Amino acid sequence: MLVDSHCHLDHSKMEVTPEEAVRRARLAGVERIVTICTRLDRYELVREIAVQFDDVYMGVGVHPHEVGDAGIDRPDALIDLAAADPKMVGVGETGLDYFYDFAPKAQQRTSFEAHILAARHLALPLIIHTRDADDDTISILREHWQDGAFPILIHCFTGGQALADAVVEMDGFISLSGITTFKSAEDLRAVIDTVPNNRLLVETDAPYLAPTPHRGKTNEPAFVAHTADYWAVRKGMETEAFRAQTGQNFLTLFSKVPGERTFTDE
Ligand SMILES: [Zn+2]
Ligand SMILES: [Zn+2]
Repeated sequence: MLVDSHCHLDHSKMEVTPEEAVRRARLAGVERIVTICTRLDRYELVREIAVQFDDVYMGVGVHPHEVGDAGIDRPDALIDLAAADPKMVGVGETGLDYFYDFAPKAQQRTSFEAHILAARHLALPLIIHTRDADDDTISILREHWQDGAFPILIHCFTGGQALADAVVEMDGFISLSGITTFKSAEDLRAVIDTVPNNRLLVETDAPYLAPTPHRGKTNEPAFVAHTADYWAVRKGMETEAFRAQTGQNFLTLFSKVPGERTFTDE
């Protein structure tokens, strides 16, 4: 089962309508899509998209770029939304972005921690965006992990070995975006090679980061097939076997998404 575990169907830079994006994704074999709501005041708008399609679900949170004016300091709103909404299957994206640094670090941290509390309470995946912030991401996750487990997903993984190791140690997952197919990304691929196959998901992060051979174009969920097939080759696996493995990983992590769960966790 091929899944786009992270995209932004509501984004103004998407070149196609959500209807067209989903239609093309289905033609490419994509069976589930998680579209990400990046601010709570966009929740209704993103939900309107998700409810139109049986195979589209939502992560809901406040993106680190949005924290300056939309950050949260309590988990309550996320908990209430998720409890009432079968389409909300993950908490986030949330996390730390020290590359763009659009919001003060302390505010990013506060909002991140509120999302962690929500994810633990709900037992839903915490969808983490982390850029140039491996050390703080690791220490915040570990600190909260000691108080009780929560399901972890590092989306669009671009981190170093220490972050990969920490995530695996905390039973988490990493998601591979189009970046991992770029020629220049050999160091990143070497880190990903150390992560067990049962901890890998694939995503587009559309409209950004289109994989090879569409690099530089506007991304869309259908293109997740290129990233999955790239990794199947790298892993020496059949196309279908890699899609089945990452599809089962997705269903293991995203426990609220309907689907046939056939693998037992190794
Ligand atoms: Zn992100
Ligand atoms: Zn995103």
